[in-house]
Amino acid sequence: MPGLRSRHTMGPGLDFVDLPSLSAAVHQCRKCPLGHSRTRAVPGVGPSDARIMIVGEAPGQNEDLQGEPFVGAAGKLLDQLLRGIGLSRGDVFITNILKCRPPGNRDPQPAEAEACSPYLEQQLRLIKPEVVLVLGRHALARLLPGYESISRLHGKVVVKDGVSYIPVYHPAAALYNSFLMGPLEQDFKAVKTHLDRVEERRQVAAALATPVPKPEEQLTLFG
Ligand code: SF4
Ligand code: URA
Repeated sequence: MPGLRSRHTMGPGLDFVDLPSLSAAVHQCRKCPLGHSRTRAVPGVGPSDARIMIVGEAPGQNEDLQGEPFVGAAGKLLDQLLRGIGLSRGDVFITNILKCRPPGNRDPQPAEAEACSPYLEQQLRLIKPEVVLVLGRHALARLLPGYESISRLHGKVVVKDGVSYIPVYHPAAALYNSFLMGPLEQDFKAVKTHLDRVEERRQVAAALATPVPKPEEQLTLFG
């Protein structure tokens, strides 16, 4: 497809130069049947240099109408949880495993997740986040295949290819099952602890990288 500025536009070899060209390809994508039933595709939103990426399951009704991820009830809860740990939407890149809504919000089918996965892989490659919040079991199965279930892994940090993945319960699951609300809040506290630790390490590394002035330089500085 001309104008998309990608070296390949189909298949697992697809390789985008930036997020806008990736989004443009998603909006035209028909690689699975959801491309025909959707209202709008939802590639994802956020800064291209975000240090934190959030990956949910799939667009719901509101997302499908607006073309933005997490704008419904689950999105409000997500915003609240982010605020609770000192973050806002502008700090994070938010996307989903599937970029188009499954009819009636049914579970993603494996073939759909497979067809859509190159987009998420490319988003990870372009954004290079330090931390990825994995929302719920579908995102977990896709991003950390072969790992434990969400009920065992939520709130823990899994380092893979130099990226810290933190699985947390899906906000929609907590809205549906109120007993998950407490654990979900705890998961976000674990995220905050991890982010604070990363920041501390960054500051130590920066301090170590700053050359210590020699005594005579100190004299000139202060004397
Ligand atoms: Fe393409 Fe993904 Fe939408 Fe399927 S869900 S049509 S693979 S963008
Ligand atoms: N749930 C998701 O997993 N993603 C959205 O974008 C909205 C609700």
